[in-house]
Amino acid sequence: MPLSEFGLIERYFRGCGAKRGDVRVGVGDDAAILECPAGTELVAAVDSLVDGVHFPHGSPPASIGHRALAVNLSDLAAMGARPAWALLALTLPRADESWLSEFAAGMAALARDHEVALVGGDTTSGPLCITVQVLGHVQRSSAMLRSGGQPGDALFVSGTPGDAAAGLAIEQGRLPADGEAAAYLRDRFLYPAPRLALGECLRRYADACIDVSDGLLGDASKLARASGCGVEISHRDVPVSDALVRAVGEERARELALTGGDDYELCFSVRPAQVARLLAELPPERWGYTRIGTLRESPGADVFRDGAVMSLSHSGYDHFG
Ligand code: ADP
Ligand code: MG
Repeated sequence: MPLSEFGLIERYFRGCGAKRGDVRVGVGDDAAILECPAGTELVAAVDSLVDGVHFPHGSPPASIGHRALAVNLSDLAAMGARPAWALLALTLPRADESWLSEFAAGMAALARDHEVALVGGDTTSGPLCITVQVLGHVQRSSAMLRSGGQPGDALFVSGTPGDAAAGLAIEQGRLPADGEAAAYLRDRFLYPAPRLALGECLRRYADACIDVSDGLLGDASKLARASGCGVEISHRDVPVSDALVRAVGEERARELALTGGDDYELCFSVRPAQVARLLAELPPERWGYTRIGTLRESPGADVFRDGAVMSLSHSGYDHFG
């Protein structure tokens, strides 16, 4: 007997993720009722993943569930917020039980890792599309914004951007690669790790932050523009993973790190007077971040290599076409 909408919600989504004491009413009523801690502001983000657009058709269902939540958690990380609750609007072509169970398990594992409870949603039938909304909180007036940067600020990025873009290309058969490096890169696309712990700590040091989802260069220039600045990035300082260099070579690795997408790392700016404290209190080798450049007064985004401005296409859409 095909699974009813009610049965599907009961089986896969009630109780999905963490159990939280601040959920007064969760899945099962007309709306959720949630308690915000005193002295905090509610922080909300929503993102949709469309089959064949935001992930390759036929992606592992666990990865789709993971990514649908991860991309939203990354937005909260960029604000320095702590996530608490999620809502899931699911449009499915059919109620395929093995697909649903893997999808829900992928989402639930990441939700539990970050103590997020699924508190509601909607289920409809149609072409596969997953919309997740994440709600969280941050101490009043302490969130990081894109607009808080100043000329002279040091600019940093977490992790090794470019890995996910290469991983996606491998998934799609556009980049031939195998072995350990290929497995690592695919995993970086399929199961990105939102930088929530780093985001929360950065509130004490950073004056602006953005999550890197559309390519480091483009997102760094968004932060700079929102701050009324420009940005200079040092080509040789852009961090790249050994796996990426093995898969595409050093030159292309840096290009992908600057213009790829789907990284879900954090790019943040720090006043010069705060840099020493940041480096001492959040050691970069432990927290995994690198200085890549500086905010400047004149607008625009430039990548410097051996003293000259590089020309790079910002598009970063098809690096392997
Ligand atoms: P309504 O008609 O009031 O929107 P629904 O039948 O759509 O109610 O949903 C019933 C309950 O199940 C609600 O609490 C809703 O938030 C929850 N829900 C529906 N779909 C999902 C889903 N995909 N994931 C989590 N909760 C869901
Ligand atoms: Mg509904």
